Amino acid sequence: MPELPEVETVRRSLEATVLGRRIRSVRLSGARLRTALPATLPRRLRGRAITGVERHGKYLLVRLEGGLTLLSHLGMSGRWLFHRSPPADRPDHVHVAIDFADGAVLWFQDPRRFGLVRLLADAAVARDPALARLGPDPMHEPPAADALRAAAHGSRTSVKSFLLDQRRVAGIGNIYASEILHRAGVDPRRRAGTLRISEWAAIAAQIPAVLEEAISSFGTTFRSYRTLWNEPGSYGERLRVYDRAGEECRRCGTPIRRIVQGQRSTYFCPSCQGRRRAGAVPTRPRHHRSRTRT
Ligand SMILES: [Zn+2]
Repeated sequence: MPELPEVETVRRSLEATVLGRRIRSVRLSGARLRTALPATLPRRLRGRAITGVERHGKYLLVRLEGGLTLLSHLGMSGRWLFHRSPPADRPDHVHVAIDFADGAVLWFQDPRRFGLVRLLADAAVARDPALARLGPDPMHEPPAADALRAAAHGSRTSVKSFLLDQRRVAGIGNIYASEILHRAGVDPRRRAGTLRISEWAAIAAQIPAVLEEAISSFGTTFRSYRTLWNEPGSYGERLRVYDRAGEECRRCGTPIRRIVQGQRSTYFCPSCQGRRRAGAVPTRPRHHRSRTRT
Protein backbone atom coordinates (compact mmCIF):
# COMPACT_ATOMS: atom_id res chain seq x y z
CA MET A 1 0.00 0.00 0.00
CA PRO A 2 1.52 3.33 -1.01
CA GLU A 3 2.62 5.55 1.86
CA LEU A 4 3.75 9.17 2.00
CA PRO A 5 7.02 8.72 0.00
CA GLU A 6 5.26 6.88 -2.82
CA VAL A 7 2.45 9.43 -2.99
CA GLU A 8 4.96 12.30 -2.86
CA THR A 9 6.84 10.68 -5.77
CA VAL A 10 3.58 10.64 -7.74
CA ARG A 11 2.88 14.25 -6.74
CA ARG A 12 6.26 15.45 -7.96
CA SER A 13 5.92 13.69 -11.27
CA LEU A 14 2.36 14.96 -11.75
CA GLU A 15 3.63 18.46 -11.07
CA ALA A 16 6.34 17.97 -13.69
CA THR A 17 3.92 16.62 -16.31
CA VAL A 18 0.32 17.78 -15.97
CA LEU A 19 0.72 21.20 -14.36
CA GLY A 20 -0.64 23.79 -16.80
CA ARG A 21 -2.20 21.21 -19.10
CA ARG A 22 -5.82 21.78 -20.11
CA ILE A 23 -8.39 18.99 -19.92
CA ARG A 24 -10.22 18.27 -23.17
CA SER A 25 -12.35 15.36 -22.07
CA VAL A 26 -12.75 12.76 -19.32
CA ARG A 27 -14.16 9.24 -19.50
CA LEU A 28 -15.18 7.06 -16.57
CA SER A 29 -15.27 3.26 -16.47
CA GLY A 30 -18.53 3.35 -14.54
CA ALA A 31 -17.08 1.03 -11.88
CA ARG A 32 -17.34 1.99 -8.24
CA LEU A 33 -14.10 2.77 -6.39
CA ARG A 34 -14.06 3.26 -2.59
CA THR A 35 -16.97 5.58 -3.34
CA ALA A 36 -18.92 5.97 -6.57
CA LEU A 37 -17.51 8.39 -9.14
CA PRO A 38 -20.13 11.04 -9.92
CA ALA A 39 -21.42 10.94 -13.49
CA THR A 40 -21.03 14.73 -13.61
CA LEU A 41 -17.23 14.48 -13.23
CA PRO A 42 -16.41 14.64 -16.98
CA ARG A 43 -18.63 17.69 -17.52
CA ARG A 44 -17.21 19.53 -14.50
CA LEU A 45 -13.57 18.86 -15.44
CA ARG A 46 -13.85 19.63 -19.15
CA GLY A 47 -11.97 22.71 -20.33
CA ARG A 48 -10.16 23.36 -17.04
CA ALA A 49 -6.39 23.69 -16.71
CA ILE A 50 -4.45 22.12 -13.83
CA THR A 51 -3.03 24.85 -11.60
CA GLY A 52 -1.31 22.91 -8.82
CA VAL A 53 -0.56 19.48 -7.39
CA GLU A 54 -0.47 19.16 -3.60
CA ARG A 55 -0.42 16.35 -1.08
CA HIS A 56 -1.53 15.82 2.50
CA GLY A 57 -0.52 12.50 4.02
CA LYS A 58 -1.45 9.88 1.44
CA TYR A 59 -3.98 12.13 -0.35
CA LEU A 60 -3.24 13.95 -3.62
CA LEU A 61 -4.94 17.26 -4.36
CA VAL A 62 -4.93 18.30 -8.03
CA ARG A 63 -5.97 21.95 -8.17
CA LEU A 64 -7.98 23.15 -11.16
CA GLU A 65 -9.04 26.45 -12.66
CA GLY A 66 -12.30 27.75 -11.29
CA GLY A 67 -11.72 26.76 -7.67
CA LEU A 68 -12.03 22.99 -7.95
CA THR A 69 -9.84 20.24 -6.47
CA LEU A 70 -9.60 16.66 -7.68
CA LEU A 71 -8.89 14.69 -4.49
CA SER A 72 -7.46 11.19 -4.86
CA HIS A 73 -6.11 8.37 -2.73
CA LEU A 74 -4.33 5.37 -4.24
CA GLY A 75 -5.82 2.90 -1.76
CA MET A 76 -4.24 -0.55 -2.15
CA SER A 77 -3.47 -0.63 -5.86
CA GLY A 78 -4.31 2.75 -7.41
CA ARG A 79 -1.92 4.42 -9.87
CA TRP A 80 -1.87 7.61 -11.87
CA LEU A 81 -0.27 6.89 -15.26
CA PHE A 82 0.82 9.59 -17.69
CA HIS A 83 1.57 9.36 -21.42
CA ARG A 84 2.56 12.22 -23.69
CA SER A 85 0.66 10.40 -26.42
CA PRO A 86 -1.64 7.50 -25.62
CA PRO A 87 -0.26 4.00 -26.27
CA ALA A 88 -2.14 1.77 -28.71
CA ASP A 89 -3.40 -0.51 -25.96
CA ARG A 90 -5.00 0.93 -22.91
CA PRO A 91 -4.42 -1.28 -19.82
CA ASP A 92 -7.33 -2.80 -17.91
CA HIS A 93 -8.83 -1.20 -14.82
CA VAL A 94 -8.54 2.43 -15.95
CA HIS A 95 -11.44 4.09 -14.13
CA VAL A 96 -10.73 7.74 -14.93
CA ALA A 97 -9.19 8.64 -18.30
CA ILE A 98 -8.29 12.30 -18.73
CA ASP A 99 -7.42 13.54 -22.26
CA PHE A 100 -5.56 16.82 -22.41
CA ALA A 101 -5.95 19.37 -25.21
CA ASP A 102 -2.37 18.70 -26.38
CA GLY A 103 -2.93 14.94 -26.78
CA ALA A 104 -1.36 13.78 -23.50
CA VAL A 105 -3.36 11.46 -21.26
CA LEU A 106 -3.58 10.81 -17.53
CA TRP A 107 -5.20 7.61 -16.28
CA PHE A 108 -6.27 6.47 -12.85
CA GLN A 109 -5.87 2.71 -12.86
CA ASP A 110 -6.98 0.64 -9.87
CA PRO A 111 -7.47 -3.14 -10.14
CA ARG A 112 -8.64 -3.60 -6.54
CA ARG A 113 -10.72 -0.40 -6.45
CA PHE A 114 -9.96 0.68 -2.90
CA GLY A 115 -8.78 4.01 -4.32
CA LEU A 116 -10.73 7.22 -4.18
CA VAL A 117 -11.29 10.05 -6.69
CA ARG A 118 -13.52 12.94 -5.71
CA LEU A 119 -14.09 16.44 -7.10
CA LEU A 120 -14.57 19.20 -4.54
CA ALA A 121 -14.93 22.94 -4.44
CA ASP A 122 -11.71 24.35 -2.94
CA ALA A 123 -13.75 25.77 -0.05
CA ALA A 124 -14.98 22.27 0.84
CA VAL A 125 -11.56 20.59 0.85
CA ALA A 126 -10.63 21.35 4.46
CA ARG A 127 -13.89 19.93 5.80
CA ASP A 128 -13.96 16.87 3.56
CA PRO A 129 -14.38 13.93 5.96
CA ALA A 130 -11.32 12.14 4.53
CA LEU A 131 -9.01 15.10 5.12
CA ALA A 132 -10.59 16.57 8.25
CA ARG A 133 -9.52 13.59 10.36
CA LEU A 134 -5.86 13.72 9.33
CA GLY A 135 -3.09 14.91 11.60
CA PRO A 136 -0.28 17.13 10.34
CA ASP A 137 1.73 16.06 7.30
CA PRO A 138 5.24 15.37 8.61
CA MET A 139 6.95 16.83 5.52
CA HIS A 140 5.04 20.13 5.86
CA GLU A 141 5.08 20.27 9.66
CA PRO A 142 7.86 18.09 11.07
CA PRO A 143 6.64 16.53 14.31
CA ALA A 144 8.05 17.80 17.60
CA ALA A 145 9.03 15.41 20.37
CA ASP A 146 6.95 17.15 23.04
CA ALA A 147 3.85 17.22 20.81
CA LEU A 148 4.19 13.49 20.11
CA ARG A 149 4.63 12.75 23.80
CA ALA A 150 1.61 14.89 24.69
CA ALA A 151 -0.50 13.12 22.03
CA ALA A 152 0.59 9.73 23.38
CA HIS A 153 -0.02 10.65 27.02
CA GLY A 154 -1.77 7.77 28.76
CA SER A 155 -1.94 5.74 25.55
CA ARG A 156 -1.75 1.98 26.03
CA THR A 157 -1.45 1.28 22.32
CA SER A 158 1.93 0.21 20.95
CA VAL A 159 4.19 2.90 19.55
CA LYS A 160 4.03 1.11 16.17
CA SER A 161 0.22 1.38 16.09
CA PHE A 162 0.47 4.97 17.31
CA LEU A 163 2.62 5.88 14.30
CA LEU A 164 0.12 4.24 11.93
CA ASP A 165 -2.76 6.34 13.31
CA GLN A 166 -3.39 8.92 10.57
CA ARG A 167 -4.97 11.26 13.14
CA ARG A 168 -1.55 11.61 14.82
CA VAL A 169 0.75 11.91 11.82
CA ALA A 170 -0.60 11.68 8.26
CA GLY A 171 1.17 9.48 5.75
CA ILE A 172 3.12 6.86 7.71
CA GLY A 173 2.14 3.26 6.96
CA ASN A 174 3.41 -0.17 7.77
CA ILE A 175 6.75 -0.02 5.93
CA TYR A 176 7.98 3.30 7.26
CA ALA A 177 6.71 2.80 10.82
CA SER A 178 9.07 -0.21 11.14
CA GLU A 179 11.95 1.69 9.50
CA ILE A 180 11.50 4.80 11.67
CA LEU A 181 11.42 2.78 14.91
CA HIS A 182 14.53 0.82 13.94
CA ARG A 183 16.51 3.98 13.31
CA ALA A 184 15.19 5.55 16.49
CA GLY A 185 16.21 2.41 18.44
CA VAL A 186 12.73 2.01 19.94
CA ASP A 187 11.02 -1.35 20.45
CA PRO A 188 7.76 -1.35 18.41
CA ARG A 189 5.96 -3.21 21.24
CA ARG A 190 6.41 -0.42 23.78
CA ARG A 191 3.25 1.29 24.88
CA ALA A 192 3.20 4.78 23.35
CA GLY A 193 2.33 6.36 26.69
CA THR A 194 5.52 5.05 28.32
CA LEU A 195 8.15 6.48 25.96
CA ARG A 196 10.59 9.02 27.37
CA ILE A 197 11.08 12.42 25.78
CA SER A 198 14.51 11.33 24.47
CA GLU A 199 12.84 8.45 22.64
CA TRP A 200 10.18 10.72 21.14
CA ALA A 201 13.00 13.06 20.08
CA ALA A 202 14.69 10.21 18.25
CA ILE A 203 11.41 9.23 16.56
CA ALA A 204 10.61 12.87 15.68
CA ALA A 205 14.02 13.22 14.03
CA GLN A 206 13.76 9.95 12.13
CA ILE A 207 10.26 10.54 10.71
CA PRO A 208 11.29 13.21 8.16
CA ALA A 209 14.75 11.68 7.69
CA VAL A 210 13.42 8.26 6.66
CA LEU A 211 10.60 9.70 4.55
CA GLU A 212 12.97 12.07 2.71
CA GLU A 213 15.41 9.28 2.03
CA ALA A 214 12.62 7.12 0.63
CA ILE A 215 11.32 9.96 -1.55
CA SER A 216 14.82 10.37 -2.99
CA SER A 217 14.61 6.69 -4.07
CA PHE A 218 11.09 7.19 -5.52
CA GLY A 219 9.58 5.14 -2.73
CA THR A 220 9.36 1.42 -2.11
CA THR A 221 7.66 -1.04 -4.43
CA PHE A 222 5.75 -3.89 -2.84
CA ARG A 223 3.19 -5.51 -5.08
CA SER A 224 1.52 -2.80 -7.08
CA TYR A 225 2.93 0.65 -6.47
CA ARG A 226 4.49 2.27 -9.56
CA THR A 227 5.70 5.73 -10.38
CA LEU A 228 3.83 7.84 -12.94
CA TRP A 229 5.91 6.12 -15.66
CA ASN A 230 4.93 2.67 -14.44
CA GLU A 231 8.37 2.05 -12.92
CA PRO A 232 8.99 0.59 -9.46
CA GLY A 233 10.54 2.66 -6.68
CA SER A 234 13.98 1.56 -5.49
CA TYR A 235 13.91 2.22 -1.75
CA GLY A 236 13.27 -1.49 -1.11
CA GLU A 237 17.01 -2.10 -1.46
CA ARG A 238 17.68 0.32 1.38
CA LEU A 239 15.12 -0.90 3.89
CA ARG A 240 16.76 -1.85 7.17
CA VAL A 241 14.09 -4.08 8.68
CA TYR A 242 10.85 -4.17 6.68
CA ASP A 243 10.28 -7.57 4.99
CA ARG A 244 13.73 -8.77 6.18
CA ALA A 245 12.70 -11.36 8.81
CA GLY A 246 15.62 -13.71 9.54
CA GLU A 247 18.13 -11.54 7.68
CA GLU A 248 20.93 -9.79 9.53
CA CYS A 249 20.36 -6.34 10.98
CA ARG A 250 22.41 -3.97 8.83
CA ARG A 251 23.66 -2.30 11.99
CA CYS A 252 24.47 -5.13 14.41
CA GLY A 253 24.04 -8.43 12.57
CA THR A 254 21.25 -9.79 14.82
CA PRO A 255 18.50 -11.57 12.84
CA ILE A 256 15.52 -9.31 12.18
CA ARG A 257 12.28 -10.46 13.79
CA ARG A 258 8.75 -10.31 12.43
CA ILE A 259 5.79 -10.00 14.77
CA VAL A 260 2.12 -9.18 14.15
CA GLN A 261 0.57 -6.08 15.70
CA GLY A 262 -3.01 -5.09 14.91
CA GLN A 263 -3.05 -7.71 12.09
CA ARG A 264 -0.09 -6.01 10.42
CA SER A 265 3.49 -7.26 10.22
CA THR A 266 6.11 -5.39 12.19
CA TYR A 267 9.83 -5.96 11.64
CA PHE A 268 12.49 -5.00 14.16
CA CYS A 269 15.94 -5.80 15.49
CA PRO A 270 15.66 -7.26 19.01
CA SER A 271 19.15 -6.02 19.79
CA CYS A 272 19.12 -2.43 18.43
CA GLN A 273 15.54 -1.93 19.60
CA GLY A 274 16.05 -3.39 23.06
CA ARG A 275 12.82 -4.11 24.86
CA ARG A 276 12.22 -2.52 28.20
CA ARG A 277 10.17 -4.82 30.37
CA ALA A 278 7.95 -2.06 31.64
CA GLY A 279 5.48 -0.67 29.19
CA ALA A 280 5.61 -3.23 26.42
CA VAL A 281 2.40 -4.39 24.77
CA PRO A 282 2.28 -8.21 24.74
CA THR A 283 2.12 -9.49 21.18
CA ARG A 284 1.62 -13.17 21.98
CA PRO A 285 0.70 -15.29 24.99
CA ARG A 286 3.38 -15.43 27.63
CA HIS A 287 5.74 -18.34 27.33
CA HIS A 288 8.76 -19.51 29.21
CA ARG A 289 12.00 -19.21 27.41
CA SER A 290 14.25 -22.20 27.75
CA ARG A 291 17.42 -21.27 29.54
CA THR A 292 20.68 -23.08 29.66
CA ARG A 293 21.38 -23.87 33.27
CA THR A 294 24.91 -24.11 34.36
ZN1 LIG B 1 20.46 -4.45 15.12
